Amino acid sequence: MDWKSEFDRRVSVFPGVKVLSDEPMKRHTSFRTGGPAARMAFPKDAGEFLLALSCAPEGGPEPFVMGSGTNVLAPDGGLDRLVINTREMRKLEPGPDPYTICAAAGCSLRQAAEFACTRGLTGLEFAHGIPGTVGGGVCMNAGAYDGEMSQALSGALVLAETDISYLSVDALELSYRHSIVMEQPRTYVLQALFRLRPGTPADIRAKMETLLQRRKASQPLEYPSAGSTFKRPAGHYAGTLIEQCGLKGLRVGGAEVSEKHAGFVINRDGATSADILAVIREVQRRVFDQTGVTLEPEVRILE
Ligand SMILES: Cc1cc2nc3c(=O)[nH]c(=O)nc-3n(C[C@H](O)[C@H](O)[C@H](O)COP(=O)(O)OP(=O)(O)OC[C@H]3O[C@@H](n4cnc5c(N)ncnc54)[C@H](O)[C@@H]3O)c2cc1C
Repeated sequence: MDWKSEFDRRVSVFPGVKVLSDEPMKRHTSFRTGGPAARMAFPKDAGEFLLALSCAPEGGPEPFVMGSGTNVLAPDGGLDRLVINTREMRKLEPGPDPYTICAAAGCSLRQAAEFACTRGLTGLEFAHGIPGTVGGGVCMNAGAYDGEMSQALSGALVLAETDISYLSVDALELSYRHSIVMEQPRTYVLQALFRLRPGTPADIRAKMETLLQRRKASQPLEYPSAGSTFKRPAGHYAGTLIEQCGLKGLRVGGAEVSEKHAGFVINRDGATSADILAVIREVQRRVFDQTGVTLEPEVRILE
C-alpha cells in the first residue's frame, strides 16, 4: 500500500480533520504557483495537528508544514507528501500575565499585532505588515524595520519528532531569518508566547500605519511575490546589488525582477515556479560574476 492509501485509511478514523487530495499549492502560496500537494490537512488546533501528523505512515515522505505560503516556492509538478496547512489554527488569547499574548501557529502576524494593539501592548508593530503566520514567523525569525520575532517572543510550543516542549526564545536559536525549527527534521511550531511592553493603542496603531505606508511605497505589493527573495548578504543589501548589476526587469517567462524593488522576484504574468527559479538562479549567477557576492535565497525552495 502506498503512503497515500495508508494515510487515507488512518485519517478516515478522524472525520473532523479536513483533508483535501491533490490540492493545488498555487492556491496557498503568495507566488500563486505550485502544483498539487498529494494530501493537504487543515487542523483547527494542536490536537488535530497531532492527529493529522500521526496518520502519516512511518517510512513515508516527511510531512511539510506551512502557514500562509508567503515564503515558499513549490514545484510545478506538485508535492508527493502530506502538507499540513496551519491556517485554521487561529486561537489568540491573553497570556499568563498582562504583558503576554498567546497565539496558535496559524494566526496571521497581522492578527497578533492587532490583538496586541487592542490590549495596549507594544512590540509587535513591525510584524503587522508581514503577510505570514505566527508559525512561519517563528520558523523564519521574520523581521522588518528594525524589529524581529526574537525581540517579541518569550518562547514557543514546539513539537520535535514525538516530543512537545516549550522552548524559550534562547532555545529557539533565532538569528537573521533562521531558527532551530528550520534546522531540525520533523520539528514544528504549534503556538507562540509573545512578551510585550505596555503602550498606548493610538501610538501603536499610528506606528503600524506608518510602516504599512512605507511598505506600500517601496514594495511591488500589486504583484504576487514572496517578499524579499534573497537574504541580506553581510555588508550589502541584496536589492541594491541586483539593481547595480542592471537586473531590474530581468524576465524569464512570467517571472520578473521587480522594477519597483529589485530585491523582489514577482509573478508578473502567469509565471510558473520554474520561471521564478530560473530568475533566481540567473540573478545569483550575474551578481556573483559582477560583484563576487553570493546571494542566498530567503524563499524556501521545495523539491
Ligand atoms: C509581500 C511580502 C512581504 C514580506 N515581507 C516580509 C518582511 O518584511 N519580513 C520578513 O521576515 N518576511 C517577509 N515576507 C516573507 C514571509 O511573509 C515571512 O517569511 C513569513 O514569516 C512566512 O510565514 P508563512 O506563514 O507564510 O510561512 P510559509 O511561507 O508557509 O513557510 C515558510 C517556512 O516556514 C515553515 N513553517 C511555516 N509554519 C510552520 C510551523 N507552524 N512550524 C514549523 N515550520 C513552519 C515552512 O515549513 C517553511 O519552511 C514577505 C512576504 C511577502 C509576500
